[in-house]
Amino acid sequence: MKHVLVTGGAGYIGSHACKALKQSGYIPVTFDNLNTGWKEAVKFGPFEHGDLLNKSDIDRVFQKYNPIAVMHFAALSQVGESMQKPGLYWENNVMGSLNLIQSAVDHGCMNFVFSSTCATYGDQDNVVLDENSAQHPINAYGASKRAVENILSNYQAAFGLNHVIFRYFNVAGADPDAEVGEFHQPETHLIPLILDAVDGKRDALTIFGTDYDTPDGTCIRDYVHVCDLVDAHVLGLKWLLDGKASRVFNLGTGDGFSVREVVDHAKHVTNRPVPMVEGDRRPGDCTKLVSGSNRALTELGWSADRSNLKQMITDAWRWHQNGAYNE
Ligand code: UDP
Repeated sequence: MKHVLVTGGAGYIGSHACKALKQSGYIPVTFDNLNTGWKEAVKFGPFEHGDLLNKSDIDRVFQKYNPIAVMHFAALSQVGESMQKPGLYWENNVMGSLNLIQSAVDHGCMNFVFSSTCATYGDQDNVVLDENSAQHPINAYGASKRAVENILSNYQAAFGLNHVIFRYFNVAGADPDAEVGEFHQPETHLIPLILDAVDGKRDALTIFGTDYDTPDGTCIRDYVHVCDLVDAHVLGLKWLLDGKASRVFNLGTGDGFSVREVVDHAKHVTNRPVPMVEGDRRPGDCTKLVSGSNRALTELGWSADRSNLKQMITDAWRWHQNGAYNE
């Protein structure tokens, strides 16, 4: 049986990954503490409740399923929160990952796919961000992910833990069938917050900073459709199962959009106004994060066909209107 251990499989990206894994013939085993995930999002394979900070929880799951690989999504991922509570990020993201990595090696599971982030690069004006760019994270979230990249590299050298690291740009959209989607409590991400403002769930979107050194003064990000992103993970898994060497891949499109441009697209897709107010900068935000790499396309054979803003907001809007987990 081709079990794949998916930490954070009850979360936004993890649940989409479970669907993609199942469609590709694997059995995704979700390991999640449900602090930020949703039991209802676990639809595509078995569920194991546990916490990465308890190594015995993880050991139990490795023993039970003997997975061929790990996909590690479980993490705290809010830039703003990470600036206020850095200890929480180092404990949860770094110590939790270390327990998981050690357990994988202890059980001879030597294929590891890791969710990292473009936040590991930090704020580098006019630098094309490819996989060889220097990493100078400016927030605790990015720093915690960078630390786990280093752990993986050390475990490769010491024990032969083969790994693929994906540095995500901004993930958006939802499963077009609306079986799973983005649902955070509290929500902090731009597109779901815009949609909340559109349908009156909140009064207005606050634009975090209008004085950045960008054409319209708002931050620029590179948005990737969650379904394209998880497809890359399945390709990354095959890469490892084919015995290829550990590798880092950016997952972005190379196209950057400002906050105001995303709002404009949302107006068109929903055909409704987006109530918004201009606010202060959010601590930890980089001015511009856009991928400058096509490594995933050329080496993995990835295509980011759904990663255009219209498609991402359309799918997010469908999910927003039709699907949500019970609060
Ligand atoms: N943003 C914003 N208002 C919000 C939430 C986000 O202006 O209520 C901006 C944020 O400053 C960033 C972009 O939207 O420039 C994307 O933020 P998000 O939190 O979605 O992802 P991040 O880039 O932090 O991973």
